[in-house]
Amino acid sequence: MKVLIVGAGIAGPTLAFWLHKAGHEVTLIEHAPELRSGGYLIDFWGAGFDVAERMGIVPKLRKHGYIFTEARAVDGSGRKVASFDPARIIESNRRYLSIPRADLATVIYNALGGKVELLLDDTVRELVDDDEHVRVTFESGSVRDFDLVVGADGLHSRVRKLAFGPDKQYEKYLGIVIAAFDAERYPVRDELVAIMHAEVGFQAIRLSFRDDATLFLFTLLYEGAIPTERAAQEALLRAKLSDKGWEVPAMLDLMSSAKNFYFDSASQIQMPSWSTGRIALVGDAGAAPSFLAGQGSALAMIEAYTLAAELARTDDYGQAFARYEERLAPLIRSKQAAAQGLGLAFAPKNKFQLFVRNTTLKMMGLPKVADIAMGRSFHDRVELPSFPEQTPAH
Ligand SMILES: Cc1cc2nc3c(=O)[nH]c(=O)nc-3n(C[C@H](O)[C@H](O)[C@H](O)COP(=O)(O)OP(=O)(O)OC[C@H]3O[C@@H](n4cnc5c(N)ncnc54)[C@H](O)[C@@H]3O)c2cc1C
Repeated sequence: MKVLIVGAGIAGPTLAFWLHKAGHEVTLIEHAPELRSGGYLIDFWGAGFDVAERMGIVPKLRKHGYIFTEARAVDGSGRKVASFDPARIIESNRRYLSIPRADLATVIYNALGGKVELLLDDTVRELVDDDEHVRVTFESGSVRDFDLVVGADGLHSRVRKLAFGPDKQYEKYLGIVIAAFDAERYPVRDELVAIMHAEVGFQAIRLSFRDDATLFLFTLLYEGAIPTERAAQEALLRAKLSDKGWEVPAMLDLMSSAKNFYFDSASQIQMPSWSTGRIALVGDAGAAPSFLAGQGSALAMIEAYTLAAELARTDDYGQAFARYEERLAPLIRSKQAAAQGLGLAFAPKNKFQLFVRNTTLKMMGLPKVADIAMGRSFHDRVELPSFPEQTPAH
């Protein structure tokens, strides 16, 4: 089948990899003019790690990734409040790493070995599903027919809007906005330590990267209209955080000159169905658990793999779409429900929540407590389907 995948993030190239393996003719379209590197850091583990292993990309992920040896919470003067060693959890699993999101995307894309058509700097403008195929009109003006179209275009998916309706029907805002930006030669470095400072209403994290780079990550409670322009986003961060403690004012001073600046809402996408006719969604586009879940990339890879495996099992795409959803919807719903309770870890609403957060972090430093608190998160309790070797004729 000819399949158009919209979005070359995590889910899109993963799906392209497996569909290509099954003999489909895949086109990947990405609206950015180039595939970038760097960006905010994600933790990567669980069944997503299994998918990466099956793709043979784990050594590359380790090369670009980091294994942090300390997570340290500090107070407004930079004094340690709590600290624990994530390696203890990692060592018992060895199936965990942290990696810039765009590096993960690039490693997955490179695994395609140039065998899949990639269209950059373009996107879909119109999708018409006439039962026989989907006629796609691109922003660039060209028109092409595909057997299937899959939206892997993230939280603000254009495919979702075109095929399923407006965002407000499906997006659940969790009351927190997130900002991430980088700096070169920041004067303070703590190698392989994730340093966090929280006050009521926000948390700031500083991470030292290779090549003298530093990443700052802010999460803050916010209930107004979400600004869409960078200037307004920066203004919001300054207005809310300039008077805060620790290194926060110094970090904000570097914001305007940051090469990479990311700002978005913490939102989930909750949909009654991930497909309609010949069009389906994968990754954040159809089932974003929000960054609070800390597992969106892994889930995006699991979804992409499962969708491709189900399509490889049958010539009936409708049946494959249904099986894909049956297998994974319960897992996604449980991850989304769990994430909704994690806001206090990222932006405590009051002093009591701040106290609970700090106490939990302190206890993570005690032997075995981290395993008890975190260990279960390392098991997705999802069984990946096998990938059929004998694929049906397409
Ligand atoms: C700050 C932060 C921290 C996070 N931490 C973690 C973590 O620790 N662990 C974890 O697993 N997950 C984490 N996540 C979540 C994770 O990044 C996402 O769940 C994951 O990237 C989803 O992958 P995706 O491919 O569905 O979407 P994306 O990675 O968002 O990729 C979508 C792609 O589609 C492209 N696109 C968008 N619109 C269009 C269009 N109209 N046409 C063509 N292309 C388009 C985009 O440019 C992008 O390349 C975090 C997210 C954030 C914001």
